[in-house]
Amino acid sequence: MTAKIIDGKQIAAEMRAQLKTEVAGLAEKGIVPGLGVVLVGDDPASKSYVKAKQKACSEISIFSEDNRLPENTPQKELLSIIDRLNNDPKIHGILTQLPLPKHIDEAEVLLAIDPTKDIDGFHPVNVGKMMLGQKTYLPCTPHGIVRLLIKSGVKIEGARVVIIGRSNIVGKPLANILLQKSPLGNATVTVCHTRTKDLAEHTRSADVVIAAAGRPNTVTADMIKDGAVVIDVGVNRVEDASKKAGYRLVGDVDFENVKGKASLITPVPGGVGPMTITMLLYNVVDAAKNKK
Ligand code: NAP
Repeated sequence: MTAKIIDGKQIAAEMRAQLKTEVAGLAEKGIVPGLGVVLVGDDPASKSYVKAKQKACSEISIFSEDNRLPENTPQKELLSIIDRLNNDPKIHGILTQLPLPKHIDEAEVLLAIDPTKDIDGFHPVNVGKMMLGQKTYLPCTPHGIVRLLIKSGVKIEGARVVIIGRSNIVGKPLANILLQKSPLGNATVTVCHTRTKDLAEHTRSADVVIAAAGRPNTVTADMIKDGAVVIDVGVNRVEDASKKAGYRLVGDVDFENVKGKASLITPVPGGVGPMTITMLLYNVVDAAKNKK
C-alpha cells in the first residue's frame, strides 16, 4: 500500500478562504477582528512564527497589533501590556508567543490574559472548559489535527488513536478533544510518552497514530499496521550541507518507509503546520463574532 498524502496546505487554504468570507461579513457590520501579538526577545524561531501568523492575518483582513519587547523586559511591564490589550475593544484575541524568557513566569502571564481573548486556548479556565466538553477556544495545533483528519475523511468515532507525546500544547489537549462525546471525538485514545513500555506494541494496534515527540524517526514502518493513518506533528532540524541554511526540516516519522504501509500520511513541512495557523485565525474570528 502507498499512502495518500494529506495536503495540509490545501486544506488550510480552503479553510482560510472560508474565514476570509466570514471576515468580510463581519466588516459589513463594522467589526474588524483584531489580534494583539506580544513577542518578547529575539528568538529566531519565535520571530518567524509570529511573522507567519501576522502574514496569515493580513491575508484575510484580520487587524494585528505588534508588540515587540526586548529580552530583558520586566514581567510587570509585560503584564501591563496584556492588561491594556485585555481592555482594548479593537483587540479580540491575544497571542503571547511562547517560550517567554526564563525570568518571566509563563503561567502567570497566561493567567493574566482575559479568557475571552485567549485565542491560544492556554488559560486554565479554557483548558478546564475543553476538558468538560464546554464551548471554548481549542488549542490551535490539536484542533488543526482533528480538522485535518475530518477533512481527509478519517472516521474518528470508534477509532483507536495512539498519541505519542503528552505536552500541554499538543498531546494532552489532543487526547481530550478526541475523547469528548462530540463530532470531533468519540475515539478510544492512548497517550504514550518516554516512560511508556513498548511504544510499538501500542502503535501497532492503532488505526490512527499521531506523533508529537520532537524526535526524528520516533515512528518507523514496523510500528504501523497496514492501512493506518499517520499524522506527523514533529518539526525537527537535521543537518544538511546541501541546503543553504545548513539544515532541513523533518518530522517524527520515517516518512519514506511509513508511507509504504499507511493509508494516509501528513508530510513535514506542509501537513500539520499550516493548520495550526489556520486554527489561530479561526479562533480570532470566533472571538470577534462572540463580541458582536
Ligand atoms: P515537548 O513539550 O518536547 O513534548 C514531547 C513529548 O514527547 C513529551 O511528552 C515526551 O515524553 C514525548 N516523547 C519524546 N520522545 C519520545 C519517545 N522516544 N517515545 C515516546 N514519547 C516521547 O514537545 P511539543 O511542544 O509537544 O512538540 C512536539 C513536536 O511537535 C516538536 O517537534 C514541535 O516542534 C512540534 N510542534 C509542531 C507544531 C506545528 O504546528 N507543526 C506545533 C507544536 C509543536 P515525556 O513527557 O515523558 O518527556
